[in-house]
Amino acid sequence: MPLIPINMREGAIARTEETIVGIDLGTTNSLVAYIKDGKPHCIRDAAGKHTLVPSVVHFTPEGEVLVGDAAREKLISDPANTIYSVKRLMGKSYRDVADFQSFLGYQVFDDDTDSLVKIRVRDRFFTPIELSAEILRALKRRAETELGRPVSKAVITVPAYFNDNQRQATRDAGRLAGLDVLRIVNEPTAAALAYGIGLDSTHTETIAVYDLGGGTFDISILKIHEGMFEVLATNGDTFLGGDDFDRALADLLLQQAGFNSDAVASDKATAQALRLQAESVKKALSKADTCEGNVLGKTVRIQRTDFERAIEPLVQRTLDCCANALRDAGLQPKDIEKVVLVGGSTRVPFVKQRVAEFFGQQPFDGLDPDEVVALGAAVQADILAGNQRDLLLLDVTPLSLGIETVGGLMDVIIPRNSKVPIRAARQYTTSVDGQKNLKIAVYQGERDLVQHNRKLGEFILSGIPPMPAGLPKIEIAFIINADGILTVRAKELRSGIEQQIDIRPAYGITEEDMARMLMDSIAHAAEDMRARALLEARNEAQTLLLAGEKFLQQNDALLSETEKATTRSFLRALQEIIPGDDKDRIHSAIQQLNEYTAPLARRVMDATIREAMQGKKIP
Ligand code: ADP
Ligand code: MG
Repeated sequence: MPLIPINMREGAIARTEETIVGIDLGTTNSLVAYIKDGKPHCIRDAAGKHTLVPSVVHFTPEGEVLVGDAAREKLISDPANTIYSVKRLMGKSYRDVADFQSFLGYQVFDDDTDSLVKIRVRDRFFTPIELSAEILRALKRRAETELGRPVSKAVITVPAYFNDNQRQATRDAGRLAGLDVLRIVNEPTAAALAYGIGLDSTHTETIAVYDLGGGTFDISILKIHEGMFEVLATNGDTFLGGDDFDRALADLLLQQAGFNSDAVASDKATAQALRLQAESVKKALSKADTCEGNVLGKTVRIQRTDFERAIEPLVQRTLDCCANALRDAGLQPKDIEKVVLVGGSTRVPFVKQRVAEFFGQQPFDGLDPDEVVALGAAVQADILAGNQRDLLLLDVTPLSLGIETVGGLMDVIIPRNSKVPIRAARQYTTSVDGQKNLKIAVYQGERDLVQHNRKLGEFILSGIPPMPAGLPKIEIAFIINADGILTVRAKELRSGIEQQIDIRPAYGITEEDMARMLMDSIAHAAEDMRARALLEARNEAQTLLLAGEKFLQQNDALLSETEKATTRSFLRALQEIIPGDDKDRIHSAIQQLNEYTAPLARRVMDATIREAMQGKKIP
C-alpha cells in the first residue's frame, strides 16, 4: 500500500502529486470525477459523450467482462449473465436478499444462508465485491485515459445508512480494483460539498439532501458545523425510484394505446422494450409539456399532467420519508436551511415542485443531479490531497452498539447517534469462580434484551488466570474509526491478556430493518423495562443464592443449627420464586434473606477477624 505523507506540523495529509479521484458507485449508474483547474469535473467516455457508466457487468461466452453501456445492452438479450443493482447486494447474506431475489434477473447463489451472497454467472460464482470491483476498474481506466497516468487513490461514496459491513465491502471492492480507498464518504455529504456547502467552517447550518435515483430513495438530514458533517437522520425506501416512474408511465402508455397490460407483461422482451420506451418518454416530459410515444406500433400522445397524476402517490411516499427523517432529527421543515437535489429522477419538474413545497424553499439544483455526488467526492479527494484546508467528516452510528451481559441483557457501550470516530470502554468482571474464558457477544440495536437486537459477532477472551468471581477486571473497548469500522477489544487488566476482533458481521442490515429496530425499541420500551427489571432481580437473586450456599459451607462451625436451617429455608424460598415473573416478590425474598443473614454475617466476620488476629504475632 502506498504511503500517505503527513505534514507533522499541521497534522494534515501533505500534498501528493498523484490525483485522487472521487467515485460515485451507484446502484444504477456510476461516475468518476476529479478536480481540474480548481473545479470538480466528471470524466466522460472515450467518445467524450457520457459521464454516466451504467452499473452493469456482463460476462460474454468467451469469458470477456463488459462494463457500462455495452453491458447494459445485454440486459435484454442475455439477462442471466448480466448483473445490475449489485450495490443492493454489498455486504449482504442470502437471507438478507431472499425478499428481493425475484427482482433480480440473474441467479443469486444460495450457498449458506448466513454467509455472504454469491452470484452465479455461467459456471462461476462471484461476490458482490468482485462485481463492484469490475465497475471500479472501468472507472479507474477511464480516469487513467483522461489523465494519461496511473490512478491508484480514490474516495468512494456510499449511502449514509450503509453499515460497517457494507462500507467495508465497498472498501474491499476498491482494493480489488487496485485502488487505495483513502476515504469512504457519505453520498449526501458529497452532494453538499459539490455545492460548496460546509466549506466555510465558521458557518453552522442544517440541510436536507433529497436523493431519488433509479431504484432507491434516500433523504438525509445533515448538520454542518465547523467543517464537520453530522448525519442527524436518514430515511428512505430501497425500492422506490425512477424505475417505478417508468412502470407507472408504461401502464399509462398501454392504456392510452388501448392494450391490456397483462397481455404485455407475460412477454419479457416486449415488457422490457416498453419499459425503455417509457423511460425515454419520461425524460422527454422533464423538458416538454407533452410527448409522443410508440407503443407496440401505435403512436400515443402523453401529457405531462397525466404522467404527474400517475406518479403522485410515489412522490408522496418520498415526502412521507422526509417527514419521518425530520421527526427523527427533532426538526420541522422550516428548520432546514438548504435542500440539495440528487439523483436523475429529481429532474422531473413535478418532483422538484413537490420537494420545494414540502420544505418551503427552492432546492439547490444548479448542478447535474446525476453528477453531484461524484463531483462532491472529487472535492473530498482534493481536501484529502491537502489542496484545501482540511475538513473533518463526521458521521454517526445509526444504532446503539453493546455487548451481552448476564441474563441476556444488552449493555450499551456506544449509544445510537454517537459521532464517529469514537472510542468507548467499560469494565466488566466474571460471574463464576476460576472462570478462564469470557465470551464477548457484540450486538447492535435499541432493545434491552439482546435477543431482540442484531448480533454482529462474538469472540472469546481466553486465558484469564483463575481468580474468584468478581475479581478480574475486564475492559471492553469499542473503537469505531473514521470509516465506521468497529473494532472490539477485550483486556483483562490484572493479567494484561488481550484479544480483539474487527466486526465484519456475516451479513448486513437493511435500512428497513434499522427503522424497524428503532420503532420496536420505542414500541416495546415499557415491556423491555419490565423485562430488564425482572432479569436484574433474577441475576441478583442468583448471585445471592450462590453467596448464601458458600456462607453456610464456610461457616458451618460458627452457626447454630437453627440459624443454618432458617437461612436454608430463606434460600429455598428465594430459589422457588426466581423462575416466576414477579420481580417484586423476588425483591422481597432477597430482602428477607438479607435481613435475616446480615447479623449472622457480621458475627461470623467478627469471629473470623478475631481468629486471624490471634494467629498473628504482634511484636
Ligand atoms: P442511482 O443513484 O440509483 O445510480 P441515478 O441518480 O443515476 O441513479 O438516477 C437514475 C434514474 O434517473 C433513472 O430512473 C433515470 O430514468 C432517471 N432520469 C435520468 N434522467 C432523467 C430525466 N431527464 N428525467 C427524468 N428522469 C430521469
Ligand atoms: Mg445515486
